[in-house]
Parts: sequence; C-alpha cells; structure tokens
Amino acid sequence: MNVETQPYVIGIDMGGTNTAFGIVDARGTVVERGSIKTDIPDINEYVKRLTDEILKLVDKVGGKENIKGIGAGCPNGNFYTGNIEFAPNLPWEGVVPFAQLLEEATGIPTAITNDANAAAVGEMTYGSAKGMKDFIMITLGTGVGSGIVINGQIVYGHDGFAGELGHVRVIRNNGRLCGCGRTGCLETYTSASGVARTAKEFLELKDVDSSLRNVEPNSITSKDVFDAAIEGDKLANEIFEYTGKILGEALADYVAFSAPEAIVLFGGLAKAGDLIMKPIRENMEKNLLSIWKGKVKILFSTLKDADAAVLGASALGWEIK
Ligand SMILES: [Zn+2]
Repeated sequence: MNVETQPYVIGIDMGGTNTAFGIVDARGTVVERGSIKTDIPDINEYVKRLTDEILKLVDKVGGKENIKGIGAGCPNGNFYTGNIEFAPNLPWEGVVPFAQLLEEATGIPTAITNDANAAAVGEMTYGSAKGMKDFIMITLGTGVGSGIVINGQIVYGHDGFAGELGHVRVIRNNGRLCGCGRTGCLETYTSASGVARTAKEFLELKDVDSSLRNVEPNSITSKDVFDAAIEGDKLANEIFEYTGKILGEALADYVAFSAPEAIVLFGGLAKAGDLIMKPIRENMEKNLLSIWKGKVKILFSTLKDADAAVLGASALGWEIK
C-alpha cells in the first residue's frame, strides 16, 4: 500500500481500567495495536506513557507524516473543548485538557469525544451505518450510551454533551435509582447491570423454576441470563422480553426526535441476537407513530468486537481538519 496516498489514523479507546489504541488504515483495518493501564493517578505521567507507546507504533508505519490524526473515545470526552469533564470512572478529577496534552506530547492533531459518539462515527465510517446520513447508535454495555447522527453529522449539542439517551427516563413512577442520581433511566433497565437487576427482581417476585436459582442472586450477570435463555430457561427468556420491551418502547420515542433510517445496537446485550431483537422490534413497531411504522431498521453493529472501540475512535481522526 502506498502510505503517502493512504495515510493512517490512530484510535484510542480509554476505559476505566485499560486504554487500548491502534493504528488504522482507510479501510478500517487495525494494522498496529497496543494498550496501557488507565489507572495512573498523574495525568501528565499517563499522557507520557501513552505517547511513548503510540510513537513506537507510529515508527512502525513510517513516522508521523503518515498519520492524519488521533481520535480518542473518552468517558465524558467533550468534542468541542477537547476536555474530559468530571468522568466518574477515571483517576483524574475535574476537567482534564486531554486532547491538548496529547497533541502537545505526540505532535499529532487530536480530537476526542465520548465512547458512544466514537462508536457512531466508527459505524458510519466502517460499519453497518456506512452510507447512512441519519441513524441513532445505542451502546449497551456497563452503561447505555448513544450517538445521534443527523445529516451525516454527530449531534454534539450546544455544550458538546448531546446524545445521553441512556439517561432518558423510561419509567416515571417508582423507577430504579440510576448512577446519575435520578430514577427510571433507560440505563437502569437495559445495561448489563440493568438486566442483572431485572433477574434478581424476577427471581424474588416469581415463583417459578429457573436455572438462575443456582446462581447467588447478588452475583448474577447478564451473561448468566443469556446462557440460561439460550438453554430455553423460561424465566431468562422473560427477562429478555422485559428488557426488549423497555428498549423497544424507548426507541419508538427516540425515532420521533430525528426520524433515523436505522437504529444500530452495539455491545454485549446485542449478542443475545433474536432473543432480544424480537421483543425490541415488536415493541418499537407497536409504539411508533404511524408515519414511521415499518420504516426504521434495527441493526447490530458489524464492527469486530475487539476492535470496535478503537476503530470508532480512529474514525474521528479522519475528520480532523
Ligand atoms: Zn440516569
């Protein structure tokens, strides 16, 4: 490949525990990759270590002149300011000017956003939303994130934080307490821990046999529910029905906001396939305004799991002017 006409970008996926990064080509192939621990209390030390590792990879692809830019997906990353602002799961408090620090250290233009927006850019650049101008990305993981794309652009909003659909309240009376301090947010029902909470509730309320009763209630995970559902466990399937209903109803409302061509689901829960897809689709359709019935696709991400977050972040690198 001619690296002069096909430069690379760098993608960084910053998580609470690990920071993964990779060098990505225009076709969305991760050609070099690495990772460091995120848990370094001094941000300057973290940036230095990250820079050292990244520059080693950069040397392997012929140096900085072959890199168009760095894109990073960071918890509470603000695209406008380049700052990470009050991220609860990171070791640095307050406002951290991460894009600026990394750009100064590496000498490579850097942009950041939050993880869900990065996933949306990745899906649009390399994945199942390729060629789409209007879609909504929903990431179902430890939390629930979202990225809204309208007319080919991520919606960042006035302050850079738009697209917090995981914290739209879907249950208004006696909703579950959310990490954000409010109650009834979508995240408390459809995140991995939300599914586990439902399992615990159902096991207490319903007097039916289930293989989930063999697991200590406080340590049930969404994977336990998934495994049981695959085996045909009735209660586990009811848990997915319930989760899919809440998500489907919420999606019907989100469609009313931006009339997307598709909703793309990403993350662990999406792996449950038809078990979760069927109730999501049915309940979305049932609740859509009639002008949208039968028109909105629900798709799973097609980005390879291990690379998805790095790819998503890297896609931001192409957009740096
Ligand atoms: Zn919330």
